[in-house]
Amino acid sequence: MSETATPAKTEKKRAINRLKSMYPLRNLVQQDYVNTLQASNEGKPTVWSMLNYWEGDLPLKAMGLNIVYPENYATLLAASGAAEPFLDASDSDGFPTHMCGYGRSTIGYSYRMMKENNGKIPPDAPLGGMAKPALLLGSGIICDARFKWFQALARYFDAPEWCLEMPMMATFEGTEPDIEDYQVKFLTREIKDFIEFLEKLLKKKMDWAKLEELIDLATRIHETTWQIGEARKAIPGPMHSTDFWSSMPPALFFAGDMNVSLKLYQDMLAEVRERVKNKESGINFPERYRLIFAELPPWHSLKFFDNLAEKGWNFVFESFGYHNTRPLDLSKVSDPCEKLARFSRNFWFNVFPDAKKDGISNPVVETYLKIARGFKADGFFMHPLISCRAASCSLRTIQHFEQDKLDIPSLWVEGDIIDKRVFNPQEVLAKAEAFEQTMDHYRTVRKSKGLDW
Ligand code: SF4
Repeated sequence: MSETATPAKTEKKRAINRLKSMYPLRNLVQQDYVNTLQASNEGKPTVWSMLNYWEGDLPLKAMGLNIVYPENYATLLAASGAAEPFLDASDSDGFPTHMCGYGRSTIGYSYRMMKENNGKIPPDAPLGGMAKPALLLGSGIICDARFKWFQALARYFDAPEWCLEMPMMATFEGTEPDIEDYQVKFLTREIKDFIEFLEKLLKKKMDWAKLEELIDLATRIHETTWQIGEARKAIPGPMHSTDFWSSMPPALFFAGDMNVSLKLYQDMLAEVRERVKNKESGINFPERYRLIFAELPPWHSLKFFDNLAEKGWNFVFESFGYHNTRPLDLSKVSDPCEKLARFSRNFWFNVFPDAKKDGISNPVVETYLKIARGFKADGFFMHPLISCRAASCSLRTIQHFEQDKLDIPSLWVEGDIIDKRVFNPQEVLAKAEAFEQTMDHYRTVRKSKGLDW
């Protein structure tokens, strides 16, 4: 080097080894918001839909409707640091601060749009925002907030609201004789009623061939994403949780063009398998610990996973509620509504027979035991949220079962999905330091008991 030459800047190594195939999936969803807004400007109706585990998404798409997902939009608000004014607006309209962060964001968004901005999109809304809804599709699945918050939204907008249901049960009720038939009939009726409602509202008939085609595509997307999940069991873990969270909406909501997302997930599967073959990790540091994240992530602070990756913490699996299960073979079911009912129901009830065999009444506990064994986890990162009792209430039971049956310890960090003000990344890092010794200790305990990790 000559005396006058400037030394080249050493680039800091990225802590997480992002999958290249994640970016187009993330872009697909972001572009979908932009496209939907443009369609709305051209006079086409927009539907605001809650995560409904696919009962409603496919009929809406088959009817040619443009859909946005406020729960997903709330994650974008949080990740881009734009959530606070929307949370404050919800609080100022009298909604409690301990309510679901997704609900608070959407209510705040609606309040600002309708009460402060004359029906126009708030100017600080990322990606151009969500257009005013012509229909609100709520869901009774999982929690009371999901049932009530879309009812609250309907008071801001002159829009009809429909709510889809799903039987929610514990293991022993859910495995009673004849219960499956009953549930399938119930769900098939739910879907048929919803379609009749859509036909009346839109004054047009369902395109049944299109619905069949979408169910087939949905099955192929879920088969592919399920295979990605299986490939992730490899050591070192080839795909970090942040890549999963960034790429999940096209499989979780079927956001965007499903033909495109199928191809992109196939690309992701190929990339993950290639990494497995080459023993390439999801982090750019040696994998010292394999962590499972339960349950909903702090969308506002995903960067803090970089600090943990630098310590060799690889988050190999996460958020069971955002993963689909392996689809059933439904080729012998001729009624598309029943097919969709069985497709949807499978997510909730596939684990019930094993939970019954193991005598575990909470099926989520059984699911996490399988995950922890399959992924050879060293530790659980528990993220309880005062604002989401539904996802938090099982965490203690999961902790006890993981500890008692598999000697896997848990780290507890309270926080929030959207509200950054109640999450302290520094505190997490301090706790992480001590937790490493706990994970080391239980590794020797597991070995002494004959477990193979
Ligand atoms: S399950 Fe939790 S995060 Fe999801 S809508 Fe209900 S309260 Fe919100």
